[in-house]
Amino acid sequence: MTTSTSPNRLLDTVRVLSIRRPWSELILAGHKPIENRTWTTTWRGRLVIHAGQRWDPFGAKIAAILDIPVDRHAPTGYLGVVELIDIHPDRGCCWPWGEPDAHHWHLTHPRRFTEPIPGLGRLGLYRPPADIRPALTTALDTAEKGTCP
Ligand SMILES: [Zn+2]
Repeated sequence: MTTSTSPNRLLDTVRVLSIRRPWSELILAGHKPIENRTWTTTWRGRLVIHAGQRWDPFGAKIAAILDIPVDRHAPTGYLGVVELIDIHPDRGCCWPWGEPDAHHWHLTHPRRFTEPIPGLGRLGLYRPPADIRPALTTALDTAEKGTCP
């Protein structure tokens, strides 16, 4: 990718999803390519992963069963970016991550930012808030370096 992300382009090329820890960690570490949501979106493309303050014990339990270490003190804030390439309704697929009666969001190509960008999350799919756009622009440009075109 040769595009540098200007702050204005950011709003057109990125959406953010806030995810409870440790699910956020499992996604960015490349273990979990499926995010379960009760709702769907037409958005496809770059999805910034925000890790919320909340810790989901169920996520930690699943990680333990799969022998994947997760850290209760993992950072919160804007942590990295993935590509949202597909969403489909559950049809008993996407084992072991796909949940019944959910929409399965198919995520690929996780890239972790060098440093977390602090900030609170929001509900739903949202545009990057104004106060984090400069830092997010830099973080995304850095994350794209070394990425195949
Ligand atoms: Zn599925």
